[in-house]
Amino acid sequence: MISQKAGDAGAIFSSTAFDRHEEVIFCTDAGSGLRAIIAIHDTNLGPALGGCRMWPYETENDAIADVHRLSRAMSSKNALARLSTGGGKSVIIGDPDRDKSEALFHAFGRSVENFGGRYIVAEDVGTAVEDMTQIRSRTSHVMGFSAREGSSGDPSPVTAYGVFCGLKAAVEFRFGRAELSGLRVAVQGIGHVGYQLCKYLHEAGAKLLVSDIHGAAVARAEADFGACAVAGDDIYSQDVDVFAPCALGAELNSRTIPQLRAQVVAGAANNQLECAEDGAKLAARNILYAPDYVVNAGGVINLSYERESGYERDKAMAHTAEIVLDIFGRAEREGRPTSEIADDMAQELLGASGQAVDELT
Ligand code: NAD
Repeated sequence: MISQKAGDAGAIFSSTAFDRHEEVIFCTDAGSGLRAIIAIHDTNLGPALGGCRMWPYETENDAIADVHRLSRAMSSKNALARLSTGGGKSVIIGDPDRDKSEALFHAFGRSVENFGGRYIVAEDVGTAVEDMTQIRSRTSHVMGFSAREGSSGDPSPVTAYGVFCGLKAAVEFRFGRAELSGLRVAVQGIGHVGYQLCKYLHEAGAKLLVSDIHGAAVARAEADFGACAVAGDDIYSQDVDVFAPCALGAELNSRTIPQLRAQVVAGAANNQLECAEDGAKLAARNILYAPDYVVNAGGVINLSYERESGYERDKAMAHTAEIVLDIFGRAEREGRPTSEIADDMAQELLGASGQAVDELT
């Protein structure tokens, strides 16, 4: 079980994870045992869109900090992807392998419905298409349910494709090579996104080193892609070109950054930096960091367009790669960390939208 870095124990408004969130709701249901938190960070660009994470948090404070950090990142992600959705996220406290039930997701669906459309839910770590289908029986404000029922289904393959495009752009920027053949990539977390990313990398000729807390996930990557298994935390210090964090957040921190031998970090995990200063620590070690919420936006882009015709996935992902390259270029010219540049760009977009709304009211 992984513990996210919590804010100050007991505090919410003064915790480091809190960032002027518009609304945070605690949801419980005695019958099903639901304990969930829904956080809406910013709706200036549109209704808050963001997944629901189900995880056995060590403490309630960990869950509170996680939902604040995740929903804030969704605002930046959706803004930089130029989507007309705001940032939100939800967490259900529980073990996805043991605590799921129809009643639990029905109760959660009712809580989502109470927002009247200001929050739209989809999958995240620990939840899947079938869970969204159950939520859908209680609210229409859900995406990523079964493709048979008219949704785009699981967003993970498109997220993985977006990460792959962003990783390629980072490799080209750092190493000046467009091909990935022979590139050594360490992938941490071989779940929905990590597995698909491994597939793209394997097909492109990359050599994979993988780790996961579930042995079966590692064994599958070994069998399907000839990946080399790495035990737990040894993944950070592997002699690789790229480190791709695809598990939970806060994996880039003062303990792990000094261990990295990769020159590029590009992966799917949300909130990879434990704190803002970790972006500067990566830059100081001359490690090119592809900001997480830029390269992992593929899934949410796909979800946002699921009801629109004329959407071209490759065009959307090429746009993502362009934004990544723009960030790298600006970071190099200004001598600043890529994470700071991305945050500034997102703030400009969010601030500008907030201003526009204020002027109308
Ligand atoms: P998932 O639950 O399917 O996979 C996560 C995997 O990480 C699991 O196999 C788990 O066992 C493993 N893991 C957890 N802690 C680990 C550790 N310390 N070391 C190694 N492995 C560990 O989730 P997912 O949908 O693949 O998402 C992965 C990450 O990408 C998450 O941070 C998620 O928020 C982010 N993300 C996902 C999407 C999406 O479309 N699914 C979109 C954007 C961002």
